[in-house]
Amino acid sequence: MSQPHDITAGRLPARRIEENFADLHPPLTAHQAAVEAARCLFCHDAPCTEVCPTGIDIPGFIRKIATGNTRGAAITILNENIMGGTCANVCPVEELCEQVCVRHTAEEQPVQIGRLQRYATDHLFALGVQPFSRQPDSGRKIAVVGAGPASLSCAHRLALHGHRVTVFEAREKAGGLNEYGLAAYKMLEERAAREVEFILGVGGITLQNNTPLGRDVTLAELRRDFDAVFLGLGHNEVNRLGLAGEDALGAHSAVDFIARIRQEDLTTLPVGRRVVVIGGGNTAIDIAVQIRKLGAEHVTLVYRRGASDMGATHHEQRLAQTSGVHIMTWARPCRVETDAAGVTAVTFEYTRLGPDGRLTGSGEHFTIEADQVFKAIGQKFSDTALHPPALHPHDLAADDLPAIENGRFRVDAERRTSLPGVWAGGDCVPGRDLTVVAVQDGKLAAESIHRELTAGPAAS
Ligand SMILES: Cc1cc2nc3c(=O)[nH]c(=O)nc-3n(C[C@H](O)[C@H](O)[C@H](O)COP(=O)(O)OP(=O)(O)OC[C@H]3O[C@@H](n4cnc5c(N)ncnc54)[C@H](O)[C@@H]3O)c2cc1C
Ligand code: SF4
Repeated sequence: MSQPHDITAGRLPARRIEENFADLHPPLTAHQAAVEAARCLFCHDAPCTEVCPTGIDIPGFIRKIATGNTRGAAITILNENIMGGTCANVCPVEELCEQVCVRHTAEEQPVQIGRLQRYATDHLFALGVQPFSRQPDSGRKIAVVGAGPASLSCAHRLALHGHRVTVFEAREKAGGLNEYGLAAYKMLEERAAREVEFILGVGGITLQNNTPLGRDVTLAELRRDFDAVFLGLGHNEVNRLGLAGEDALGAHSAVDFIARIRQEDLTTLPVGRRVVVIGGGNTAIDIAVQIRKLGAEHVTLVYRRGASDMGATHHEQRLAQTSGVHIMTWARPCRVETDAAGVTAVTFEYTRLGPDGRLTGSGEHFTIEADQVFKAIGQKFSDTALHPPALHPHDLAADDLPAIENGRFRVDAERRTSLPGVWAGGDCVPGRDLTVVAVQDGKLAAESIHRELTAGPAAS
């Protein structure tokens, strides 16, 4: 039996850790890509394109691969989704394009669209060419806040239209969760940084890192100094369990720890022998899988409802199970047990649905010993950055704030907020929290801003 607080760095030799974090799916070879592309039926009204949030012409790019025009295939992808390289690796294709692929319906073996997309975009990045060029300078200036997928997509599209864009990012590096959140084994080889560089390579975009809205700039200033503002703030707060002991040594926010996995030397991270993960979304799965890959011996993920209610896809759940994560459902945490040195265990109560359909505790409890606990019960958007510090009390009146509904900015179909001249997109607006959805939001907002800035005077 292990000692309490069995937390150590380098639980596995460096070489094993490196192997564990290798590519989840190896890239296709040229021959494999040609064979896979040949399976596409090039459907008219292709269902795969219909369900792609960014509307990539999927049969169009696959046909180009099939005819040896891999560079053209990449451009077809990037025309609709400038982060097509990242999305090729992180999109839940099994419930989007590949799920509706007619090959899937007929043969239960869809065309591997994600892997073909990666094949094409990797090819273009390896060539090191910049296929996009800007329209002549429009003389218009747009402020984009945040440098995640929503904002970078918006900035790129605006730059293509000839506008000058300044991106204000709070953190040290650009990329948002592409840089700090997505699982390390999906984002190898500095992929996020390479994509940021590619996007900025079109020109016309100035990136100001370490410049948070709410500290270094205010929304009022941006509205005064720029022709339009786009807010791509993502989720900036994590939900708390609301239990004593959740801040004890050994208890971590999963999102914060994942950022460390992405930024630090993997052999130096503290890893418990027995780990409990609380939550059922992709963040919970990602931390559970990655802490296993770092050498944790027993990883138990506990979710308060059934497997089919989990936010994580079946594919991700399967990945966790095959990585050795034990998934328990229908239990909720009621105590994080601690001693003077930190976390020792988590006590749970079994749950079930009551007659009214609401989740209720069964009154039966069990305890799982743990050296480390990861809280992954969701992130949320907080609009505190829009409320300037006491330094600028004059800057915002209540009607200078974009309306918030159910904790996110209220936006219309063009991603316009209620505040004139201010658009928003990505995780801070309603919709699925996926990279590809954020990219589409940024694109739609950019087109809307462009239309508004270039519209002639209304005919009388
Ligand atoms: C652990 C984890 C794993 C995920 N895995 C997947 C996956 O496998 N596939 C998938 O499709 N999606 C995944 N997602 C979701 C996906 O990462 C998000 O939906 C996407 O990043 C949202 O993009 P965004 O631009 O809205 O926000 P973000 O990526 O969060 O970017 C927001 C940016 O705004 C900056 N910012 C915030 N506040 C301020 C401020 N006041 N001033 C200036 N800048 C500010 C932030 O620093 C950040 O750079 C995952 C999310 C998490 C947390
Ligand atoms: S649905 Fe499948 S077969 Fe049809 S175009 Fe899309 S990828 Fe090709």
